[in-house]
Amino acid sequence: MNKKTLKDLQIKGKSILLRCDFNVPLDDQGDITDDRRIQGAIETIEYLKDQGGKVLLISHLGRPKGKFDSKLSLKPVAKRLEKLLNTEVVFYSDEKVISDQTKREVLKMNEGDIGLLENIRFRKEETENDETFAKDLASMGDLYVNDAFGTSHRAHASNFGLAKNLPSAVGFLVEKELEFFTKTLENPKRPFVAIIGGAKVSDKIGVIKNLLGKVDQLIIGGGMAYTFLKAKGYDVGKSILEEDKIILAKELMQNARSQGVELILPVDTVVAKEFDNSAEHWTVDVKNIPNDTMGLDIGEISIALFDETIQKANTIIWNGPMGVFEMSSYEKGTKTMAESLAKSKGVTIIGGGDSAAAVEKFQLANEMSHISTGGGASLELLEGKILPGIDSIEDK
Ligand code: AMP
Repeated sequence: MNKKTLKDLQIKGKSILLRCDFNVPLDDQGDITDDRRIQGAIETIEYLKDQGGKVLLISHLGRPKGKFDSKLSLKPVAKRLEKLLNTEVVFYSDEKVISDQTKREVLKMNEGDIGLLENIRFRKEETENDETFAKDLASMGDLYVNDAFGTSHRAHASNFGLAKNLPSAVGFLVEKELEFFTKTLENPKRPFVAIIGGAKVSDKIGVIKNLLGKVDQLIIGGGMAYTFLKAKGYDVGKSILEEDKIILAKELMQNARSQGVELILPVDTVVAKEFDNSAEHWTVDVKNIPNDTMGLDIGEISIALFDETIQKANTIIWNGPMGVFEMSSYEKGTKTMAESLAKSKGVTIIGGGDSAAAVEKFQLANEMSHISTGGGASLELLEGKILPGIDSIEDK
Protein backbone atom coordinates (compact mmCIF):
# COMPACT_ATOMS: atom_id res chain seq x y z
CA MET A 1 0.00 0.00 0.00
CA ASN A 2 1.76 3.11 -1.20
CA LYS A 3 -0.85 5.80 -1.12
CA LYS A 4 -0.51 9.43 -2.15
CA THR A 5 0.11 11.73 0.80
CA LEU A 6 -0.35 15.46 1.34
CA LYS A 7 3.09 16.16 -0.11
CA ASP A 8 1.95 14.69 -3.44
CA LEU A 9 -0.82 17.27 -3.85
CA GLN A 10 -0.76 20.73 -5.47
CA ILE A 11 -2.85 22.59 -2.95
CA LYS A 12 -2.65 26.32 -3.66
CA GLY A 13 -6.02 27.78 -4.64
CA LYS A 14 -7.75 24.39 -4.48
CA SER A 15 -10.82 23.44 -2.46
CA ILE A 16 -9.96 20.44 -0.32
CA LEU A 17 -12.56 18.17 1.21
CA LEU A 18 -10.85 16.85 4.33
CA ARG A 19 -12.50 13.90 6.07
CA CYS A 20 -11.59 14.08 9.75
CA ASP A 21 -12.59 12.06 12.79
CA PHE A 22 -14.18 14.55 15.18
CA ASN A 23 -16.23 11.86 16.89
CA VAL A 24 -15.48 13.24 20.36
CA PRO A 25 -17.23 12.44 23.65
CA LEU A 26 -19.76 15.05 24.85
CA ASP A 27 -21.27 15.49 28.33
CA ASP A 28 -24.97 16.09 29.09
CA GLN A 29 -24.52 19.82 28.44
CA GLY A 30 -23.07 19.08 25.01
CA ASP A 31 -19.56 20.11 26.07
CA ILE A 32 -16.57 18.23 24.68
CA THR A 33 -14.96 16.14 27.44
CA ASP A 34 -11.89 14.98 25.50
CA ASP A 35 -10.64 16.86 22.43
CA ARG A 36 -7.66 14.71 21.51
CA ARG A 37 -9.24 13.72 18.21
CA ILE A 38 -9.61 17.40 17.28
CA GLN A 39 -6.04 18.12 18.36
CA GLY A 40 -4.89 15.20 16.23
CA ALA A 41 -6.34 16.80 13.10
CA ILE A 42 -4.66 20.19 13.55
CA GLU A 43 -1.41 19.36 11.77
CA THR A 44 -3.14 18.36 8.53
CA ILE A 45 -5.56 21.31 8.64
CA GLU A 46 -2.75 23.83 9.23
CA TYR A 47 -0.66 22.35 6.45
CA LEU A 48 -3.52 22.64 3.95
CA LYS A 49 -4.29 26.20 5.09
CA ASP A 50 -0.63 27.26 4.95
CA GLN A 51 -0.34 25.87 1.44
CA GLY A 52 -3.16 28.17 0.33
CA GLY A 53 -5.97 25.61 0.26
CA LYS A 54 -9.64 26.28 0.93
CA VAL A 55 -10.21 23.67 3.61
CA LEU A 56 -13.67 22.16 4.02
CA LEU A 57 -13.85 19.75 6.95
CA ILE A 58 -16.19 16.76 7.04
CA SER A 59 -16.84 14.47 10.02
CA HIS A 60 -19.42 12.38 11.77
CA LEU A 61 -20.32 12.53 15.46
CA GLY A 62 -22.10 9.69 17.23
CA ARG A 63 -24.86 7.73 15.58
CA PRO A 64 -27.69 10.02 14.44
CA LYS A 65 -28.88 7.24 12.07
CA GLY A 66 -29.45 9.46 9.06
CA LYS A 67 -31.56 12.13 10.81
CA PHE A 68 -30.84 15.59 12.21
CA ASP A 69 -30.23 15.51 15.96
CA SER A 70 -29.32 18.83 17.59
CA LYS A 71 -27.45 16.99 20.38
CA LEU A 72 -25.05 15.58 17.80
CA SER A 73 -24.34 18.84 15.99
CA LEU A 74 -20.68 19.56 15.19
CA LYS A 75 -21.08 23.19 16.32
CA PRO A 76 -19.08 22.66 19.56
CA VAL A 77 -16.33 21.10 17.45
CA ALA A 78 -16.17 24.22 15.25
CA LYS A 79 -15.72 26.34 18.39
CA ARG A 80 -12.98 24.10 19.75
CA LEU A 81 -11.24 24.11 16.37
CA GLU A 82 -11.25 27.91 16.37
CA LYS A 83 -9.52 27.90 19.74
CA LEU A 84 -6.94 25.30 18.76
CA LEU A 85 -6.21 26.83 15.36
CA ASN A 86 -6.47 30.38 16.62
CA THR A 87 -8.35 31.36 13.49
CA GLU A 88 -11.94 31.58 12.26
CA VAL A 89 -13.71 28.34 11.36
CA VAL A 90 -16.97 28.86 9.49
CA PHE A 91 -19.59 26.37 10.63
CA TYR A 92 -22.16 25.60 7.94
CA SER A 93 -25.17 24.92 10.14
CA ASP A 94 -27.50 22.88 7.94
CA GLU A 95 -29.86 20.09 9.00
CA LYS A 96 -29.46 18.59 5.52
CA VAL A 97 -25.65 19.05 5.66
CA ILE A 98 -25.31 20.24 2.04
CA SER A 99 -28.46 21.98 0.88
CA ASP A 100 -28.08 24.35 -2.12
CA GLN A 101 -27.64 27.34 0.18
CA THR A 102 -24.68 25.68 1.94
CA LYS A 103 -23.09 24.72 -1.35
CA ARG A 104 -23.35 28.33 -2.54
CA GLU A 105 -21.71 29.54 0.69
CA VAL A 106 -18.91 26.98 0.43
CA LEU A 107 -18.12 28.10 -3.10
CA LYS A 108 -17.35 31.57 -1.73
CA MET A 109 -14.42 30.29 0.37
CA ASN A 110 -11.05 31.97 -0.17
CA GLU A 111 -7.50 30.62 0.04
CA GLY A 112 -6.61 29.82 3.65
CA ASP A 113 -10.26 29.71 4.78
CA ILE A 114 -11.47 26.84 6.95
CA GLY A 115 -15.06 25.62 7.07
CA LEU A 116 -16.83 22.72 8.76
CA LEU A 117 -19.93 20.96 7.45
CA GLU A 118 -22.62 19.66 9.82
CA ASN A 119 -22.49 16.02 11.04
CA ILE A 120 -22.31 14.00 7.82
CA ARG A 121 -24.33 11.17 9.37
CA PHE A 122 -27.39 13.41 9.52
CA ARG A 123 -27.77 12.06 5.97
CA LYS A 124 -28.56 8.38 5.62
CA GLU A 125 -26.84 8.43 2.23
CA GLU A 126 -23.50 8.71 4.05
CA THR A 127 -23.42 5.20 5.52
CA GLU A 128 -25.31 3.85 2.49
CA ASN A 129 -22.33 5.01 0.41
CA ASP A 130 -24.82 6.62 -1.95
CA GLU A 131 -23.24 7.58 -5.27
CA THR A 132 -25.40 10.63 -5.94
CA PHE A 133 -24.69 12.00 -2.47
CA ALA A 134 -20.96 11.41 -2.94
CA LYS A 135 -21.05 13.25 -6.29
CA ASP A 136 -22.97 16.09 -4.67
CA LEU A 137 -20.32 16.36 -1.94
CA ALA A 138 -17.52 16.09 -4.48
CA SER A 139 -18.98 19.01 -6.46
CA MET A 140 -17.78 21.31 -3.65
CA GLY A 141 -14.10 20.39 -3.95
CA ASP A 142 -11.11 19.86 -6.20
CA LEU A 143 -9.23 17.41 -3.99
CA TYR A 144 -10.11 14.84 -1.31
CA VAL A 145 -8.00 13.98 1.72
CA ASN A 146 -8.82 11.13 4.11
CA ASP A 147 -7.47 11.72 7.61
CA ALA A 148 -10.15 9.73 9.47
CA PHE A 149 -8.53 6.36 10.12
CA GLY A 150 -11.29 5.28 12.53
CA THR A 151 -13.91 5.09 9.76
CA SER A 152 -11.64 3.79 7.01
CA HIS A 153 -12.78 0.18 7.45
CA ARG A 154 -16.19 1.32 6.21
CA ALA A 155 -17.07 2.27 2.63
CA HIS A 156 -19.04 5.47 3.15
CA ALA A 157 -19.87 8.39 0.85
CA SER A 158 -17.45 10.73 2.64
CA ASN A 159 -14.46 8.43 2.24
CA PHE A 160 -14.85 5.75 -0.44
CA GLY A 161 -17.39 7.81 -2.41
CA LEU A 162 -15.29 10.98 -2.44
CA ALA A 163 -12.10 9.13 -3.32
CA LYS A 164 -13.89 7.71 -6.37
CA ASN A 165 -14.82 11.20 -7.54
CA LEU A 166 -11.79 13.40 -6.79
CA PRO A 167 -7.99 13.26 -6.92
CA SER A 168 -7.08 12.00 -3.45
CA ALA A 169 -4.46 11.49 -0.76
CA VAL A 170 -4.21 10.45 2.88
CA GLY A 171 -3.60 13.05 5.60
CA PHE A 172 -0.79 13.03 8.15
CA LEU A 173 -2.73 10.95 10.71
CA VAL A 174 -3.63 8.17 8.29
CA GLU A 175 -0.12 8.24 6.84
CA LYS A 176 1.27 7.53 10.32
CA GLU A 177 -1.22 4.70 10.92
CA LEU A 178 -0.24 3.07 7.64
CA GLU A 179 3.44 3.48 8.32
CA PHE A 180 3.16 1.63 11.62
CA PHE A 181 0.56 -0.95 10.74
CA THR A 182 1.34 -1.95 7.20
CA LYS A 183 5.08 -1.28 6.90
CA THR A 184 5.83 -2.79 10.32
CA LEU A 185 3.60 -5.78 9.75
CA GLU A 186 5.16 -6.44 6.37
CA ASN A 187 8.75 -6.04 7.49
CA PRO A 188 9.06 -6.20 11.29
CA LYS A 189 12.30 -6.03 13.18
CA ARG A 190 12.50 -9.39 14.94
CA PRO A 191 11.74 -10.83 17.39
CA PHE A 192 8.16 -9.72 16.67
CA VAL A 193 5.65 -10.28 19.49
CA ALA A 194 1.89 -9.79 19.48
CA ILE A 195 -0.09 -9.56 22.70
CA ILE A 196 -3.76 -10.26 22.23
CA GLY A 197 -6.32 -9.92 25.00
CA GLY A 198 -9.89 -8.81 25.51
CA ALA A 199 -13.09 -10.57 26.32
CA LYS A 200 -13.71 -13.05 23.53
CA VAL A 201 -11.79 -15.33 21.17
CA SER A 202 -14.57 -14.96 18.62
CA ASP A 203 -13.77 -11.24 18.14
CA LYS A 204 -10.10 -11.90 17.46
CA ILE A 205 -10.03 -15.14 15.40
CA GLY A 206 -9.07 -13.30 12.21
CA VAL A 207 -6.37 -11.33 14.01
CA ILE A 208 -4.84 -14.42 15.62
CA LYS A 209 -4.88 -16.39 12.36
CA ASN A 210 -3.24 -13.58 10.42
CA LEU A 211 -0.63 -12.80 13.08
CA LEU A 212 0.38 -16.46 13.39
CA GLY A 213 1.88 -16.13 9.93
CA LYS A 214 3.96 -13.13 10.96
CA VAL A 215 5.01 -13.12 14.61
CA ASP A 216 7.67 -15.04 16.54
CA GLN A 217 5.66 -15.14 19.76
CA LEU A 218 1.96 -14.70 20.43
CA ILE A 219 0.93 -13.87 23.99
CA ILE A 220 -2.73 -14.46 24.83
CA GLY A 221 -4.30 -12.93 27.94
CA GLY A 222 -7.63 -11.49 29.06
CA GLY A 223 -10.97 -13.28 29.01
CA MET A 224 -10.16 -15.16 25.81
CA ALA A 225 -7.27 -17.02 27.49
CA TYR A 226 -9.71 -19.23 29.42
CA THR A 227 -11.05 -20.83 26.23
CA PHE A 228 -7.45 -21.74 25.33
CA LEU A 229 -6.80 -23.04 28.85
CA LYS A 230 -9.95 -25.16 28.62
CA ALA A 231 -8.72 -26.45 25.26
CA LYS A 232 -5.55 -27.56 27.06
CA GLY A 233 -7.75 -29.57 29.40
CA TYR A 234 -7.83 -27.30 32.44
CA ASP A 235 -10.98 -26.47 34.37
CA VAL A 236 -11.69 -22.75 34.27
CA GLY A 237 -14.50 -22.56 36.86
CA LYS A 238 -16.87 -19.65 36.18
CA SER A 239 -14.37 -17.79 33.97
CA ILE A 240 -15.63 -16.38 30.68
CA LEU A 241 -15.60 -19.33 28.27
CA GLU A 242 -16.73 -19.80 24.68
CA GLU A 243 -17.61 -23.51 24.58
CA ASP A 244 -18.12 -23.39 20.82
CA LYS A 245 -14.59 -22.07 20.28
CA ILE A 246 -12.68 -24.73 22.24
CA ILE A 247 -11.97 -26.80 19.12
CA LEU A 248 -10.87 -23.70 17.27
CA ALA A 249 -8.55 -22.78 20.14
CA LYS A 250 -6.99 -26.26 19.87
CA GLU A 251 -6.52 -25.77 16.12
CA LEU A 252 -4.94 -22.36 16.65
CA MET A 253 -2.48 -23.84 19.14
CA GLN A 254 -1.63 -26.59 16.63
CA ASN A 255 -1.22 -24.00 13.85
CA ALA A 256 1.14 -22.03 16.07
CA ARG A 257 3.25 -25.13 16.66
CA SER A 258 3.40 -26.02 12.98
CA GLN A 259 4.32 -22.44 12.04
CA GLY A 260 7.06 -22.29 14.65
CA VAL A 261 5.29 -19.59 16.67
CA GLU A 262 5.54 -19.75 20.44
CA LEU A 263 2.01 -19.30 21.82
CA ILE A 264 2.25 -18.10 25.41
CA LEU A 265 -0.72 -18.39 27.78
CA PRO A 266 -1.08 -17.21 31.39
CA VAL A 267 0.22 -19.68 33.96
CA ASP A 268 -1.53 -18.10 36.92
CA THR A 269 -4.65 -16.01 37.32
CA VAL A 270 -6.37 -13.71 39.82
CA VAL A 271 -9.72 -15.25 40.74
CA ALA A 272 -12.84 -14.06 42.60
CA LYS A 273 -16.21 -15.60 43.33
CA GLU A 274 -18.07 -12.57 41.94
CA PHE A 275 -17.56 -10.17 39.03
CA ASP A 276 -17.11 -7.37 41.55
CA ASN A 277 -14.29 -4.97 42.37
CA SER A 278 -14.78 -5.43 46.11
CA ALA A 279 -15.02 -9.24 46.01
CA GLU A 280 -12.29 -11.16 47.79
CA HIS A 281 -9.65 -12.11 45.17
CA TRP A 282 -6.49 -14.17 45.17
CA THR A 283 -4.07 -15.78 42.71
CA VAL A 284 -4.06 -19.44 41.68
CA ASP A 285 -2.20 -21.61 39.18
CA VAL A 286 -4.28 -21.96 35.98
CA LYS A 287 -4.31 -25.72 36.57
CA ASN A 288 -6.13 -25.17 39.89
CA ILE A 289 -8.93 -22.68 39.24
CA PRO A 290 -11.61 -23.43 41.88
CA ASN A 291 -15.02 -24.36 40.46
CA ASP A 292 -16.85 -21.49 42.08
CA THR A 293 -14.43 -18.74 40.95
CA MET A 294 -13.71 -16.81 37.76
CA GLY A 295 -10.38 -15.55 36.41
CA LEU A 296 -10.40 -11.78 36.15
CA ASP A 297 -6.73 -10.92 35.61
CA ILE A 298 -3.39 -12.56 34.89
CA GLY A 299 -1.21 -13.38 37.92
CA GLU A 300 2.29 -12.26 38.92
CA ILE A 301 4.13 -15.20 37.35
CA SER A 302 2.35 -14.62 34.03
CA ILE A 303 3.21 -10.92 34.24
CA ALA A 304 6.90 -11.77 34.67
CA LEU A 305 6.75 -14.35 31.87
CA PHE A 306 5.09 -11.94 29.43
CA ASP A 307 7.47 -9.14 30.40
CA GLU A 308 10.50 -11.32 29.72
CA THR A 309 9.26 -12.01 26.18
CA ILE A 310 8.41 -8.35 25.60
CA GLN A 311 11.82 -7.08 26.71
CA LYS A 312 13.54 -9.38 24.21
CA ALA A 313 11.36 -8.21 21.32
CA ASN A 314 12.14 -5.54 18.76
CA THR A 315 8.57 -5.11 17.53
CA ILE A 316 5.49 -5.41 19.74
CA ILE A 317 1.83 -5.11 18.85
CA TRP A 318 -0.77 -5.06 21.61
CA ASN A 319 -4.53 -5.38 21.26
CA GLY A 320 -6.90 -6.09 24.14
CA PRO A 321 -6.57 -5.87 27.95
CA MET A 322 -5.14 -8.68 30.09
CA GLY A 323 -7.99 -8.55 32.60
CA VAL A 324 -10.99 -6.54 33.73
CA PHE A 325 -8.86 -3.39 33.87
CA GLU A 326 -11.86 -1.14 34.45
CA MET A 327 -11.93 -2.46 38.05
CA SER A 328 -8.90 -1.50 40.17
CA SER A 329 -8.70 -4.96 41.75
CA TYR A 330 -8.11 -6.54 38.34
CA GLU A 331 -6.13 -3.83 36.52
CA LYS A 332 -2.63 -4.94 37.47
CA GLY A 333 -2.02 -7.30 34.54
CA THR A 334 -3.04 -4.69 31.99
CA LYS A 335 -1.19 -1.92 33.80
CA THR A 336 2.06 -3.85 34.03
CA MET A 337 1.76 -4.85 30.35
CA ALA A 338 1.50 -1.15 29.49
CA GLU A 339 4.54 -0.46 31.69
CA SER A 340 6.40 -3.34 30.10
CA LEU A 341 5.78 -1.90 26.62
CA ALA A 342 6.73 1.57 27.85
CA LYS A 343 10.05 0.14 29.05
CA SER A 344 10.74 -1.75 25.82
CA LYS A 345 13.38 -0.45 23.41
CA GLY A 346 11.49 -1.96 20.47
CA VAL A 347 8.79 -0.44 18.27
CA THR A 348 5.54 -0.51 20.26
CA ILE A 349 2.19 -0.34 18.51
CA ILE A 350 -1.10 -0.15 20.40
CA GLY A 351 -4.31 -1.12 18.61
CA GLY A 352 -7.19 1.28 19.22
CA GLY A 353 -10.11 0.69 21.56
CA ASP A 354 -9.55 -0.77 25.02
CA SER A 355 -5.77 -1.17 24.88
CA ALA A 356 -5.43 2.47 23.81
CA ALA A 357 -7.82 3.43 26.64
CA ALA A 358 -5.71 1.44 29.10
CA VAL A 359 -2.46 3.09 28.00
CA GLU A 360 -4.12 6.51 28.38
CA LYS A 361 -5.57 5.54 31.77
CA PHE A 362 -2.13 4.59 33.07
CA GLN A 363 -0.62 7.74 31.52
CA LEU A 364 1.87 5.90 29.37
CA ALA A 365 0.70 7.14 25.97
CA ASN A 366 3.83 9.21 25.37
CA GLU A 367 6.04 6.16 25.87
CA MET A 368 4.60 4.22 22.91
CA SER A 369 5.81 4.41 19.31
CA HIS A 370 2.25 4.51 18.02
CA ILE A 371 -1.27 4.40 19.42
CA SER A 372 -3.89 3.78 16.79
CA THR A 373 -6.82 6.18 16.55
CA GLY A 374 -9.16 3.49 15.23
CA GLY A 375 -10.22 0.37 17.15
CA GLY A 376 -12.20 -1.40 14.42
CA ALA A 377 -9.95 -0.19 11.62
CA SER A 378 -6.74 -1.32 13.32
CA LEU A 379 -8.27 -4.72 14.10
CA GLU A 380 -9.16 -5.16 10.44
CA LEU A 381 -5.62 -4.23 9.39
CA LEU A 382 -4.31 -6.80 11.88
CA GLU A 383 -6.67 -9.33 10.30
CA GLY A 384 -4.97 -8.64 7.00
CA LYS A 385 -8.09 -7.04 5.53
CA ILE A 386 -8.13 -4.20 3.06
CA LEU A 387 -9.73 -0.98 4.33
CA PRO A 388 -12.03 0.46 1.64
CA GLY A 389 -11.58 4.07 2.84
CA ILE A 390 -7.84 3.76 2.26
CA ASP A 391 -7.74 1.33 -0.64
CA SER A 392 -9.82 3.83 -2.64
CA ILE A 393 -7.15 6.55 -2.26
CA GLU A 394 -4.89 6.99 -5.30
CA ASP A 395 -1.59 5.13 -5.34
CA LYS A 396 1.62 7.11 -5.63
P1 AMP B 1 -12.33 -6.40 23.85
O1 AMP B 1 -13.33 -5.32 23.56
O2 AMP B 1 -12.64 -7.69 23.19
O3 AMP B 1 -10.91 -5.96 23.65
O4 AMP B 1 -12.51 -6.73 25.39
C1 AMP B 1 -12.29 -5.79 26.38
C2 AMP B 1 -13.02 -6.20 27.59
O5 AMP B 1 -12.60 -7.45 28.01
C3 AMP B 1 -12.80 -5.25 28.75
O6 AMP B 1 -14.00 -4.59 29.03
C4 AMP B 1 -12.38 -6.17 29.87
O7 AMP B 1 -13.02 -5.87 31.09
C5 AMP B 1 -12.82 -7.54 29.38
N1 AMP B 1 -12.05 -8.62 30.01
C6 AMP B 1 -10.73 -8.77 30.03
N2 AMP B 1 -10.38 -9.84 30.76
C7 AMP B 1 -11.52 -10.41 31.20
C8 AMP B 1 -11.81 -11.54 32.01
N3 AMP B 1 -10.83 -12.29 32.51
N4 AMP B 1 -13.10 -11.81 32.27
C9 AMP B 1 -14.07 -11.04 31.77
N5 AMP B 1 -13.86 -9.94 30.99
C10 AMP B 1 -12.60 -9.63 30.71
